[in-house]
Order: sequence, then C-alpha cells, then structure tokens
Amino acid sequence: MLAPVPAAVIQAPPPKLHSAGWLRSLLSVVMVQVADDGRLLDCNAGFQRLMPCTPDSGAAQPDIRSFFVRPAFDQLLAVHGPDGEPVFEGILNVVDMHGVCRSLLGSVHRVGRHVMVVAEYDVADMERLTAQVITLNQELAEVQRSLARANRDLRTNEARLELLSVTDPLTGLANRRRLMEFMALAWERAQRHASRFSIIMADIDFFKKINDGHGHDQGDAVLRAVSAQMQTMVRKTDLVARFGGEEFVIVLEEAPLPAALDLAERLRLAACALHFDCMPDGITCSYGVAQLGPGEKVEQVIKHADEALYRAKHGGRNQVTHYLPDV
Ligand code: GH3
Ligand code: MG
Ligand code: MG
Repeated sequence: MLAPVPAAVIQAPPPKLHSAGWLRSLLSVVMVQVADDGRLLDCNAGFQRLMPCTPDSGAAQPDIRSFFVRPAFDQLLAVHGPDGEPVFEGILNVVDMHGVCRSLLGSVHRVGRHVMVVAEYDVADMERLTAQVITLNQELAEVQRSLARANRDLRTNEARLELLSVTDPLTGLANRRRLMEFMALAWERAQRHASRFSIIMADIDFFKKINDGHGHDQGDAVLRAVSAQMQTMVRKTDLVARFGGEEFVIVLEEAPLPAALDLAERLRLAACALHFDCMPDGITCSYGVAQLGPGEKVEQVIKHADEALYRAKHGGRNQVTHYLPDV
C-alpha cells in the first residue's frame, strides 16, 4: 500500500506506502519499509531492481539491514526525531544484491519501530553517466584533433606533390611544365603593362664528352653545379628552369635585351670559373638571348633564343649571342 510522494522528496512529510499504487512500478524511485529486525515489510519495483525480493520471500528473504551502508541501519534506528520529520536526509550509501555500492538521494523516516526509505535516484548512476559523457567528449576531442592533424598533413602533402610535379628532381630547378606556366603568366603581365621580358637559353658545351670521359655521375654533378650557380645569380622574380638534358631557360621579367645579355655574360664567366676535380680545364656554356617582341607569343621568343643559341654554338661555343631578326 503506497501513498503519493511529492516531487521534492527531501522536504516531504513521511510518505505512506499504503496508498501510492503508481509508485510501485517506478524504477527511478526507491521505496522500502524495513522492520527493526531487518524483515522487508514493503517495497516498490525501484527497490527490487537493487534487491530482488518481496515481503513474501519467507526464509529466502535477505536481511535488509545489510542493504544500508552509510548511515548503517542501527544508526537510523537509534535516531528519534519529532513526529513526521525525516530521521535522515541526503545521500544514502547502500549495497545492492551484486555487492555494488550505490548512492541514493532521499530521506529516511521512522514509522513506529520500522524504517522507511524514499529516495529519488541513484547518484552513482548519474556520476557514472557523467563520467561516461566526459570520457566520450574527451575521445571526441581527440578524434577531432587527429582529424585536424590528418587534414594538415594532407594539405602539406598536396603542396609537396604540387611542388614535386613542377620541379626537376636532379637539379631542383623548375621543370619544363613550370617554365611554360610561368612564361604564360609573364606574357600576360607583359601585355597588361605594355612591358617586355627576355629569356636566356643556356647549354653546356660538349656535355656528352663529360659523360663519356668521366661518367654519368660526374655529368650529373656538373648539371647540379651549373644549376645551383645560375639560381644564385638571378633575381628573386626571375625563373631558372631545366629545359632539357643540359639546356636551361632563364626568364627575366621587366628586363630588356641589354640587361639579359649582361646577365648571360656574367653567367658565362661564372660557369667557366666552376671547379671540378676530374676536369682541370673546367667547363664552358653557350647562351642564346631573346627579348619578347611586340605581338609575339611565348613560343616565338623561345624559338628566337634557340636560334641565337644555335649561332653561339656555331660561332665556336663559350659565348653569348642574341637573336637577330634578319639572320
Ligand atoms: P654541344 O656542345 O653541341 O651542346 O654538345 P653536347 O655534347 O653538350 O650536346 P649533346 O646534345 O650531343 O649531348 C647532350 C648529352 O647530355 C646527351 C645526354 O646523354 C646527356 N644528358 C641528358 N640528360 C642528362 C642527365 O640528366 N644526366 C647526364 N649525366 N647526362 C644527361
Ligand atoms: Mg650541350
Ligand atoms: Mg643540348
């Protein structure tokens, strides 16, 4: 026989178990009435979730006194408060049938010589749930962090791949694809600002002989040395690209022909001064220079530089020649 229990249990007057029929099935509320000798007198489904017994369990019925851990059952029996007032309010530590400690929040009342407990919920469950939520949130944060890391790595790798796709692996210079992209943009800028740009086409002289005489590795070393040297001698806005085997193209924006010729000559002298242990006489290079003419396309200025280079080769190599429209 159960009586209705108000929502604020702690402040509530002692509930009467005998008229609260609907509370019998509630699992979130623990209600139990225990005789002073530990016999179960009455309980609801919430209590049976913790201790599966009924007042009719007879000899199989456990001693309910052991259900109370803190305060202990004897302590509760020893308290005598004013009529109708709870003898205890707050967190009750109890132990369920599996020996698991649980914390109930509620009040304990004395009904004659018996003890009645009305507790609203299992604080331990709430704490467990809160702990689980905290753990899940931490895991989520960790997953989000690793996702952010993976995204950063992906972007870095994409940038690396992009760079690799436009870089010559042997010399680290721009490759031909990058050269053509750069020249297309330089051409557009030149049209917009009515400016010109020049290119230098460089070719190592008798490079085949270096390979044949000293080995391919030495040839590679020469390619790397010439590339590095050219790279250090140009402006930041210029582009040095490996055009083919031992041929290079340097694009000089905002540089008229005389400036390009001047740089080519300095490059020539610098290449001659390079030292290689196996080649006491060093190396030489030839240079063809051309300036983008009005109305000309990128392909034309390359062709003109190539023609100039051809003349440098035929003129005896180790020299700088510029494009002559009439030749
Ligand atoms: P020229 O003075 O007329 O330019 O003669 P050359 O011997 O320099 O020119 P040629 O075109 O006859 O030979 C170029 C050689 O460059 C042929 C090729 O095997 C070599 N070569 C091309 N790419 C590489 C490379 O990456 N490494 C090395 N070691 N050799 C290369
Ligand atoms: Mg050559
Ligand atoms: Mg060549």
